[in-house]
Amino acid sequence: MPEDIEADDLFAMAGLQHGAPRAGFPDKEMFAQVAYQLVHDELLLDGVSRMNLATFCTTWTDDYARRLMAESLDKNIVDKDEYPQTAELEKRGVRMVADLWNAPDPATVLGTSTIGSSEAAMLGGLAAKFRWRARGGQGTPNFVCGPVQVCWEKFARYFDVEIRQVPLRGDHYMMRPEDIAAYCDANTIMVVPTFGQTFTGLFEDVAGISKALDDIQAATGVDIPIHVDAASGGFLAPFCAPDLVWDFRLPRVKSINASGHKTGLAPLGAGWAIWREPADLPQELIFNVDYLGGAMATFNLNFSRPGGQAITQYYDFIRLGRLGYTRVQSEIYRVAQYLAEGLEATGLFDMIHGGDPNRGITAVSWRLRGEQNFNLYDLSDRLRSRGWLIAAYPLPADRGEETIMRAVIRHGFTHDMVELLLADMDRCLTVLCKHALGLSSAEAGGFTHSATAAVPIEQVAPVR
Ligand SMILES: *Cc1c(COP(=O)(O)O)cnc(C)c1O
Repeated sequence: MPEDIEADDLFAMAGLQHGAPRAGFPDKEMFAQVAYQLVHDELLLDGVSRMNLATFCTTWTDDYARRLMAESLDKNIVDKDEYPQTAELEKRGVRMVADLWNAPDPATVLGTSTIGSSEAAMLGGLAAKFRWRARGGQGTPNFVCGPVQVCWEKFARYFDVEIRQVPLRGDHYMMRPEDIAAYCDANTIMVVPTFGQTFTGLFEDVAGISKALDDIQAATGVDIPIHVDAASGGFLAPFCAPDLVWDFRLPRVKSINASGHKTGLAPLGAGWAIWREPADLPQELIFNVDYLGGAMATFNLNFSRPGGQAITQYYDFIRLGRLGYTRVQSEIYRVAQYLAEGLEATGLFDMIHGGDPNRGITAVSWRLRGEQNFNLYDLSDRLRSRGWLIAAYPLPADRGEETIMRAVIRHGFTHDMVELLLADMDRCLTVLCKHALGLSSAEAGGFTHSATAAVPIEQVAPVR
């Protein structure tokens, strides 16, 4: 076999005359341009991220954000002595987010950037568990929530806390204030309302739940704090529904998490966890480490972590400010409402969330109206043939067999793209109304955020 030389045309090189290494660790080197081309071309099979309406995460970033990400590729956020200005930008980020969420004193607040909401949720949950133990809590701690994102099931399992999910009743899609008393007791370390539910996009009623917990305290003396999972709502309501009270304006709210990489508009890998007051974050959870030169306090699950995300999030905050975020997010809501109107006009769907900023996030969710000869998995599957990824998934088991569909509208999704999507939807529906299918969730590549059982490790390992 001829040897590659760099002067060869890329596609005449020997390295491209067979498939990419797949199994054992490769023996030999190859030219960087050959390896790049192999990897680049394999990724052609991935979907187009901006047409993926199943994800909540950032899929559009401006050139300056990309430049900052590239410039900070080598900055480890944990190395606060070596990169003090990265640490400073993260600290400013914490104060800005605390201010946005109406913390009593944003200047002294404790908080941290994280790799996403999952890590931030674990930290919020751990702080609640440690506070409960410090109050003399004994036995098995529990927390109460509605239908939650999988990170809370992970928190429960990884940290030995019982999860008490309030089942959905009647035609409600959320945990309701009047339902929680039956699930709370002296070992309840927190109630976790989801502010921007994964399944429907709707906001749970944090103020109502707080009031219900006031009543529980008055009746039983048990004082149960709230941690708000504001993964996607945390950077929407402050701008587009400022009168909705869900944050630190409620004294019972002790900590909040949000994903900077969702509606915060930061690139992937950014989250925030903020505590109301320093006393709400137990000191035992903060580690002071000095291996990297200088002492520094850390409260994260990771040690090394890229600094670019917190840096770029800070760029987003100062680039847009309150006014800019309000304009960006209001436009996204408008586009979501336009999609909801188009879907309603087909006469085939009932809206669950139509993109009202006072009711939920920048998303639309719907179910099939009455009996049709196709289901939402069929629709999801057909839309994929045009490149659109729109999730169809079952609601939590206590809602029976109900299947719904959700489209998350994000920065970079335009009015024009909604028109393209609706035209494709129309074509798909015309075919489906004629030719019944009836796919199951698995056949349609069903997508859900909730895990019912742990996946055995062999199944997680790469397929060879
Ligand atoms: C996305 C999401 C999470 C997990 O956040 P990551 O940033 O993906 O780790 C947790 N809770 C809710 C409500 C979410 O929407």
